[in-house]
Amino acid sequence: KKTQRIDKILGNLGYGSRSDLKKMVKQGRISLNGSVVKDSGAQADPELDAIEIDGERIVYREFIYIMLHKPPGVISATEDLRDRTVIDLLPDEFKVFAPFPVGRLDKDTEGLLLLTNDGGLTHDLLSPRKHVPKTYLADCIGRIGEAEISRFQTGVQLDDGYVTMPAQLQILEYGEYDDGMVKSRISLTISEGKFHQVKRMFEAVGSKVTYLKRVSMGPLELDASLPLGSFRELTAAELEALK
Ligand code: URA
Repeated sequence: KKTQRIDKILGNLGYGSRSDLKKMVKQGRISLNGSVVKDSGAQADPELDAIEIDGERIVYREFIYIMLHKPPGVISATEDLRDRTVIDLLPDEFKVFAPFPVGRLDKDTEGLLLLTNDGGLTHDLLSPRKHVPKTYLADCIGRIGEAEISRFQTGVQLDDGYVTMPAQLQILEYGEYDDGMVKSRISLTISEGKFHQVKRMFEAVGSKVTYLKRVSMGPLELDASLPLGSFRELTAAELEALK
């Protein structure tokens, strides 16, 4: 039986600090298996015991899975000395689970970022052997066409000599930058995750990425109704598909 102090269990779930919880116990607001708790140090098994606050059963869980529509300008890390991180965007109820980003998006890249404290799932999604496909939407300089589609399918050599695995490039539309230069809007699916990979692939074919957004990771797609900078927990179906 895995028991813990009840103030610790509730604290970890975001219900308040140790002193908040002590006060709540004093006020008789917390019960364990139907009896009012008298001591905030009382032992309980969060998975087996019924803990209630103001008569409401708390739902215990170990893991959290958050879909974030990462905005540009924040770092995909849990801590940074200078910049805001993706964790800074989350409310305390989520932060108490100590989530971390599954992989990284560059500071200027936006789009789908999964945050979780589930190390096993993270490991599986990031394992180079699993080849989890990631799809990006990008704007890049110049007229990207059939030649690049075929070069990306074959593999291009990056600046460090690495030759990329087959990647699927689709041209979505052509446009113009303010200065009149041709802009190509593309979609690119890669099944590996080298440092700055998408940007370096376009550099390898003489172009340059000017806008980058991740739209999917494996079966997980960025929820189009999620505004930039906002987040939500994964649905049960999304989580099932990922596992
Ligand atoms: N490739 C990049 O170059 N940057 C990202 O943020 C993600 C993929």
